[in-house]
Amino acid sequence: MQKKDINWSELGFNYINTDKRYISYWKDGKWDEGTLTSDNNVHINEGSTALHYGQQCFEGLKAYTTKDGRIQLFRPDANAKRMQESCKRLLMPEFPTEKFIDACIQVVKANEAWVPPYGTGATLYLRPFLIGVGENIGVHPASEYIFSIFCMPVGPYYKGGMAPVNYITSDFDRAAAFGTGKSKVGGNYAASLYPHQLAAEKGFADCIYLDPATHTKIDEVGAANFFAITKDGKKFVTPNSSSILPSITKLSLLQVAKDYLGLETAEEDVFIDKLDEYSEAGACGTAAVITPIGCIQHKGVDHVFYSETEVGPVTMKLYETLYGIQNGDIENAPEGWIVEVK
Ligand SMILES: *Cc1c(COP(=O)(O)O)cnc(C)c1O
Repeated sequence: MQKKDINWSELGFNYINTDKRYISYWKDGKWDEGTLTSDNNVHINEGSTALHYGQQCFEGLKAYTTKDGRIQLFRPDANAKRMQESCKRLLMPEFPTEKFIDACIQVVKANEAWVPPYGTGATLYLRPFLIGVGENIGVHPASEYIFSIFCMPVGPYYKGGMAPVNYITSDFDRAAAFGTGKSKVGGNYAASLYPHQLAAEKGFADCIYLDPATHTKIDEVGAANFFAITKDGKKFVTPNSSSILPSITKLSLLQVAKDYLGLETAEEDVFIDKLDEYSEAGACGTAAVITPIGCIQHKGVDHVFYSETEVGPVTMKLYETLYGIQNGDIENAPEGWIVEVK
């Protein structure tokens, strides 16, 4: 396969129009066969519920090239299931898991020339989305839907190696306590743009969202989940809340911490005024796998974890293990985590 002439390791996280995307329509109560298309515009009615009432959700996952040149997806079934949960919450028809995985494979294969080679640090990012469309004006679920997956190569998250970044707590919430925080829906992101901008203006990478009901516990780190390592270095802790988006990276790290690093794990409250119980902390998500947290500023006071310049040893080990599983360097992946594209 002749790859595109791209300086892979210099790529950022930017839109690139690749060759093909998958699209399927839901009409009269069922999904059609689905097809690959070269058209990178979606043609929808002006009254579509996705445009007016936020009836839409999305996913994000990656394809990796292994050392011996195979291409593999990481836990696409988990993305399919999470999207089904988002659909339930927004009264949208679910896209079946088998069809979702098959569509991912079709898209990767059709864009094989765009899949970054091993060793560049770059990956192919897949963006599935499901939107309410069709002629409409009233506030109710759409009569028609589109499910689509497009993809593009994205660069290595850490160009100069992994380094800690700083965050500040936000007075705003990205979602309500029992709202749509658990669903991967655009509305949560629209709500996060302004708090993000405020944090960025103050020189922080992003903001930390506290639990919307009491503002005493950590919920999320921007659009990533939070984890911390206890002072004794023995326990991996990640918050449990009704408004956190269940990150697949987080769920995977819980298993990696236990089965590969021999740590205790817990999903429990992380109080913003008790951060000195932890020696290391990080944000996790598909984009970066792990972003080490140097410092969190809360009400004008800085709390530094391991270091503002160096990555803690447990954080590093977690990152190396999970990334190694994703790109195939570590071959004994847990059952079902790796889906080969062939
Ligand atoms: C997508 C997302 C994450 C990360 O989930 P992954 O499955 O690990 O990529 C975390 N928080 C929010 C709000 C998200 O939308």
